[in-house]
Amino acid sequence: MAKILCVLYDDPITGYPKSYARDDIPHLDHYPDGMPLPTPKHIDFKPGQLLGCVSGELGLRKFLEKEGHTFIVTSDKDGPNSIFEKELPDADIVISQPFWPAYLTADRLSKAKKLKLVITAGIGSDHIDLQAAMEKGITIGEITFCNSISVAEHVVMAILALIHNYIPSYQWVINKGWNIADCVSRAYDLEGMNVGSVAAGRIGLAVLKRLKPFDVKLHYTERHRLPLDVEKDLNLTYHPDLESMVSICDVITINCSLHSETENLFNDALISKMKRGSYLINTARGKICDRDAVVRALESGRLAGYAGDVWFPQPAPQDHPWRTMPHHGMTPHVSGTTLSAQARYAAGVREILERWFEKRPIREQYLILDRGKLAGMGAYSYTVGNTTGGSEEAVKFEKVKPN
Ligand code: NDP
Repeated sequence: MAKILCVLYDDPITGYPKSYARDDIPHLDHYPDGMPLPTPKHIDFKPGQLLGCVSGELGLRKFLEKEGHTFIVTSDKDGPNSIFEKELPDADIVISQPFWPAYLTADRLSKAKKLKLVITAGIGSDHIDLQAAMEKGITIGEITFCNSISVAEHVVMAILALIHNYIPSYQWVINKGWNIADCVSRAYDLEGMNVGSVAAGRIGLAVLKRLKPFDVKLHYTERHRLPLDVEKDLNLTYHPDLESMVSICDVITINCSLHSETENLFNDALISKMKRGSYLINTARGKICDRDAVVRALESGRLAGYAGDVWFPQPAPQDHPWRTMPHHGMTPHVSGTTLSAQARYAAGVREILERWFEKRPIREQYLILDRGKLAGMGAYSYTVGNTTGGSEEAVKFEKVKPN
């Protein structure tokens, strides 16, 4: 029997919901590229329930305990005295979500003597030291496509919010003002702008598709170029290098994975090549941008706005400068954990676990590492390396107390 250690974010400060804003979520037949949705044999939750928090337990407890496994769920994940570190040494399987990642550094992996399987309930396994996980022969799976569209929708929302200066205008209403000039002195239309995506994978392509009706000029850069018919359909301009794209775009949306090639990609040097007054949207990973370079660029006006929901580390300490920098539209890491997305990734985690326990192969599309080797999506989107450096800073986060 296995011990499964699951790290989830805290329950709402008002307690686990007793009811929801909506009664159901739409049924999807498949993902946009035809890939089937998760296919567990059974689920023990109602789609639309809050599953990603501690009491939600990803809907797994009944299934795991019925099979005789030990299931530990905690939000206490950072620092040597955390429940996570205490439970890790004899855990067989670790599950966590990128929104509240259980960082698996080389040091932690060396203590996890029994660990064989790590599941990312979501997409993005950069919170694991891939190099160290390879050396230990670990298998890593994530729920490919589960929240790609959720994120793409958030990107479009963030682009519009920044360009139209929505958030400060909303704030004037809350402040009981009617300060139209204050609101509109930074407000523009998206129409006609040049918008570029760094990567056109599942999220990047979905963003580009969603932006087409806004009558913008679309650009992208990628390691693997899209088929020509897709480029033609969306009227995309392909840039073999990032510099040429950022120098002509008004809006850049970052949609690549974080790995050793993309860490700190948007540093002072690259940002200085962007058009003055550009908007930068990053829902991929915080570490793809140099934290302080972003702040400097907003203060100098090189960037007119920065938005997204990804930080490093997570949770971000209270004094993280992105909380207070000018002209930002940041949220906590939420875009990929809508109730709609949670239903998909909870079912995907269950599918992986069922297959693992029955010794059936995990879907190729879910694999990042297969017994230590880059496989499936991992072989496509990642390179070997470690991007967890500095994750111990997450311990500095202090929980915000309920009022
Ligand atoms: P995909 O794997 O479909 O796309 C990632 C793309 O990044 C691939 O197409 C890959 O290109 C590209 N890429 C990798 N390195 C580079 C590089 N150096 N330059 C240009 N492109 C590069 O993943 P998704 O679209 O589903 O997700 C993308 C990322 O978004 C995830 O890795 C994750 O970090 C983040 N994410 C964030 C979420 C959130 O809640 N905010 C939720 C889900 C994901 P190629 O194919 O050419 O190798």
